[in-house]
Amino acid sequence: MKSKLDINLTRGLKPITNTFSHGMKFHLWTIGCQMNIADSERMGSALTQLGLSPTNSAEEADVIVLNSCVVRQSAEDKVTGQLTSMKPLKNSSARIIALMGCMVGPDTKLLKKKFPYVDVFMRPQEYDPLIELVGERIGIDPAGCIGQLLPAIDTTAYIPIIHGCDLFCSFCIIPYRRGRQVSKEIDEIAHEAQMLSQRGVKEITLLGQTVDAYGHDLEKQVDLSDLLYKLDGIDGLERIRFLTSHPQFMSERIIDAVATLPKVCENINLPIQAGDDNILKSMRRTYSIDEYRNLIDRIRSKINHVSITTDIIVGFCGETKEQFQNTLKIVEEIQFDKVHIAAYSTREGTIAFRKQVDDVPLSEKKLRVKELETLQQEISTRINSKYLDSTEKVLIDGHERGKWKGRTRTDKLVFVDSDESDLNGKTKNVKITDTGPWSLKGIII
Ligand code: SF4
Repeated sequence: MKSKLDINLTRGLKPITNTFSHGMKFHLWTIGCQMNIADSERMGSALTQLGLSPTNSAEEADVIVLNSCVVRQSAEDKVTGQLTSMKPLKNSSARIIALMGCMVGPDTKLLKKKFPYVDVFMRPQEYDPLIELVGERIGIDPAGCIGQLLPAIDTTAYIPIIHGCDLFCSFCIIPYRRGRQVSKEIDEIAHEAQMLSQRGVKEITLLGQTVDAYGHDLEKQVDLSDLLYKLDGIDGLERIRFLTSHPQFMSERIIDAVATLPKVCENINLPIQAGDDNILKSMRRTYSIDEYRNLIDRIRSKINHVSITTDIIVGFCGETKEQFQNTLKIVEEIQFDKVHIAAYSTREGTIAFRKQVDDVPLSEKKLRVKELETLQQEISTRINSKYLDSTEKVLIDGHERGKWKGRTRTDKLVFVDSDESDLNGKTKNVKITDTGPWSLKGIII
């Protein structure tokens, strides 16, 4: 899953002002993938239910929460920098500093030694330690005050449906930090989606590290397609998306559900990671290039106008120039709508760290990233140019630099010229007037 976001999540969280009079504030800083954003939204929901108000300023906050990511060294370095900059703020014993997310493993001894001024360490999806500590400070029993943890209401919302991962790809730290795969019960997810829809959410994105493995660990025999059928029946909800999928679990049942259910969007993120069978093997990916190619063919033959995005790591241990050329070839052949590209960096604790050698020089990795980016830019430009003059249904979810913005069902970002004062949450027919590799432009018709 991508790790490109570095956001402050205090926006849009509204305090429950009349319930408590303590006047406390919280600051919530988040880095990492959509799973982390979803966790932060739920943490923010708990704190607002306890009567705390969000603030963008850490200096002003009584409770500071950092939600961490360690998927790449650069992300971990940013968290460490942020944590270090919090040290002077621990000038008052009343201020609470909490660290949550993937930096917190099962054993927190080392973290406690390195950051003694941090009061609470919480693993992903673990909210109770901070909730209880804040409850103690304000003198209430949180159990009686906190209802369901829901994200701040917006046009779109994330719902984590499966946590952890069982696969242990050799480059990945996630299974060690987020643990083994655990799916939520189908009724619990449906209830959450129903509540979000009743509060005005139009689009939900179901999240998991291997989202298409949903249900495989549950006693009841259900899978992602069963969940999609159930959610498709929720009134008011207009769109359903899911990510990130793994080629091993993308079944015909799921493909059929995407092809037939009206609310499920025609967009699939299916990480290939490399274009060479030997590299895939050393990454411990569980498919060959031929199997991946066949899967894409099946998806395209069943789902009309589907857009397919992927993730690729370049410069993995031992990747030769020829093996990288195979990656370029498969990208050219498949014509992905979008590729998230990362240069390999070793993560302590992974199988690759223990058993393989990170032997592609950084300068070579950077060249490979550049070459792949250039190729993908040409491909995305070509694919997006086909949208010119077409009419697309765009769900508007924000306003940026004087234009409304939203997405097509195929997840294309569209900027819309309009004088209307509030289009947020509305689905409009938009005629596409301009296209580029990263976004489209259009006018409402
Ligand atoms: S499928 Fe592989 S890359 Fe994805 S979370 Fe699991 S171990 Fe990591």
